[in-house]
Amino acid sequence: MLAVRTALGDQVFTVGDHVVRALCKALDAYRDPDDRGECIGCGGRRLDENLHCVDCGQLHGILGQVIAHHVRRAAAAAGEGGIG
Ligand SMILES: [Zn+2]
Repeated sequence: MLAVRTALGDQVFTVGDHVVRALCKALDAYRDPDDRGECIGCGGRRLDENLHCVDCGQLHGILGQVIAHHVRRAAAAAGEGGIG
């Protein structure tokens, strides 16, 4: 049996063990789509929809890595004395 309690009341479902196990596996595998994980820069959990950390500005994901790569290359090229 499976009992679910919500603000609206209790509901009891009569289900077999295999269904309960399947539900447990499904719950275990569930991930909140609004949970975008932790920032690799500061460990914060406030990533916006662009995977941009609100706290330290770290970019995440493929686009963030590409942007960070170009920024580093541009900084390295500037550091090699192209100007001045
Ligand atoms: Zn951060």
